[in-house]
Amino acid sequence: MKNVVTEKLFQSPSKYIQGPSAIKNAPIYLGSLGKTALLTADDVVYKIAGAALTSSLEQAGMKVVYVRFNGEASSAEIARVQDIGAQNKVEYVIALGGGKTIDTAKAVADKLGVPSAVLPTTASTDAPCSALSVLYTPHGEFDRYSFFNKNPTVVLVDTSVVAKAPARFLSAGIGDALATHVEAREVRNAANFGGGLPTLLAGAISARCEEILFKYGKLAYESNKVGAITPALEAVVEANTLLSGLGFESGGLAAAHAIHNGLTALEPTHKMMHGEKVNFGTVCQLILCNASVEEIDRYLELMTSVDLPVTLAQLGVTSVTDEELGHVAELACAPNETIWNLDCVINVDVVFNAIKGAEAAGRSFLLKKGLL
Ligand SMILES: [Zn+2]
Repeated sequence: MKNVVTEKLFQSPSKYIQGPSAIKNAPIYLGSLGKTALLTADDVVYKIAGAALTSSLEQAGMKVVYVRFNGEASSAEIARVQDIGAQNKVEYVIALGGGKTIDTAKAVADKLGVPSAVLPTTASTDAPCSALSVLYTPHGEFDRYSFFNKNPTVVLVDTSVVAKAPARFLSAGIGDALATHVEAREVRNAANFGGGLPTLLAGAISARCEEILFKYGKLAYESNKVGAITPALEAVVEANTLLSGLGFESGGLAAAHAIHNGLTALEPTHKMMHGEKVNFGTVCQLILCNASVEEIDRYLELMTSVDLPVTLAQLGVTSVTDEELGHVAELACAPNETIWNLDCVINVDVVFNAIKGAEAAGRSFLLKKGLL
């Protein structure tokens, strides 16, 4: 909705906690949510952090019902986990893991009408803080956004766990977070995800998010490679999770995410992470919004320094027809897409050409830097 909303609106989780012992101290922050929790995580994450979280909650007298996450944030998976939650009369839902686990658990909590606590084990997306989920088909294609009345009550990030995750996750989170300001600054007259206009605060948050990524992104990525919890890593984890989360939800999305959603129709991109696809979407949006070569190079420099993909080939799409790219553009221009928040002319043809232009700009940058 553009040019009709008059109220400004800002929304956020009630509490955000981040630090190297956050999981050990979780009972302090989760205790007020209830006695019985449903914990959803995949097997790998459960072994890394779930068992420790469960024992610290149980020692504090709480009951934990563990449900193994099956890998896709789909309507079917949400219904399955919801049933188990209802049978066990859980008082709140804990999401432990990456973006898809988080998006599933937030939807489950909403359906059960109970609070959620989000404990990301990677800083790979800005999903933790928002009151919406991105849902996919069971085959991994973008399905729809699902909106909830409440943001998660608690978001708790244990940086000792995040630091041990492969650095690719942090890099993908940087890709997702880098889109935040690029998108928010172009959509100040459009309603955000809460249905209101962006506040000055949302604009300040997304600008600060970008500033931190340019200052510390590369350093944090290198720290993550050796598992070191440095101030740079702490800053980028906060930028990827809190600043990007608040910035996109109350600031608004535009073409980078709409093109991401279109890209999910290309099968090879299913192996790539959300933030990696969004990253290429950001390059497309810069082209679409007529950014100067200096500006585009500044972004490409940061992106390539943390190994983010800047071409379709780097996203695994090594051969693609114009017809297939046209379909991506068509999906990016679907009636409910965030691309319509932009003030410039948008149609399938314009978007198709921006994608081709982004591919060319990305390739030429890689060639110039000797990366191709
Ligand atoms: Zn995103």
